[in-house]
Amino acid sequence: MFGLKKDWSMRVSPRYFTLDDYEGAVGRWCPGCGDFAVVTAVQKILRDEQLAPERVVNVSGIGCSSRLPHYMATYGFHGLHGRALPVACGVKSRRPDLDVWVTTGDGDCTSIGAGHWIHGIRYNMNMVVMLLDNNVYGLTKKQTSPTTAIGTKTNTHPRGSFLPPLDPLTVTLGVSNVSFVAQTVDWNPAHLKATLHAAWKHKGLGFVRILQRCPTYSDHAFEDLQKDPAGLLLLEHERGVQLDESLTKGFPNRTRHDPADMQGALAVANRERGVPVGLLFQDESRPRYDEFTCEGHDMSVEKRLAGIEAELDHFAI
Ligand code: SF4
Repeated sequence: MFGLKKDWSMRVSPRYFTLDDYEGAVGRWCPGCGDFAVVTAVQKILRDEQLAPERVVNVSGIGCSSRLPHYMATYGFHGLHGRALPVACGVKSRRPDLDVWVTTGDGDCTSIGAGHWIHGIRYNMNMVVMLLDNNVYGLTKKQTSPTTAIGTKTNTHPRGSFLPPLDPLTVTLGVSNVSFVAQTVDWNPAHLKATLHAAWKHKGLGFVRILQRCPTYSDHAFEDLQKDPAGLLLLEHERGVQLDESLTKGFPNRTRHDPADMQGALAVANRERGVPVGLLFQDESRPRYDEFTCEGHDMSVEKRLAGIEAELDHFAI
């Protein structure tokens, strides 16, 4: 309806980009932190797609995982706590030609940033949103987060967290205009990369919850799943995340799930047994706010420039 046309010619690179072209500063996460796997997966996707680093923007809030933009040689914005999505939406609304990746943690997204999370999903701008969920506030050294499991002892709940944790999948699936929801784990690099790649290809906001290891403060959180992958449930479908057959061997439990089926997605997310990994829901027909904002509302380029000139005139001597 709004006729957004991406200028694909701008993606054609004059030379071949290697992984080195996307590597920023040396990662300063703890040894064994799952964040390393995520930044590597993103760099590999950019390399595979040959996206010029200057056409990519990594945006984050505050938290351990939100350091990710520093470790990418792309444009980046390390924002305020919980505010990654407003920044990302601002970038996308004015520069829809750029590839926008959002990194946020469970504290950043599901607590202080919860309002932005809901409205960001509803805006459905074309970007990838990675929720790195380690079930704890890591940067501030082990406080209970909204996704912390009952009974987990933290600095804020030394006798154990007692509220039922918030489920990022069911919450996201419940937001109006949601268009893509997937889940993966940081310790399976093939599934992690394939899932993020699917989110990148999606036209709209691709929300991916990544179960992320924090060996320093929540090493217990996914210990059972790492030791026994039978606790994971691989979602399979021709419209889902595609993995080579050889790579699916790490998932003894599988089920067929059509990501077009919202009720099925909610049922999968609410399962009592088996943590689902793969694509829960996708609907590319849902309206995208970036298609509206990039065109503007009766705002031609000339009108926008005239508006900027008028604002600048306020500061003219
Ligand atoms: Fe990673 Fe946890 Fe260390 Fe933060 S505290 S860098 S999440 S291992």
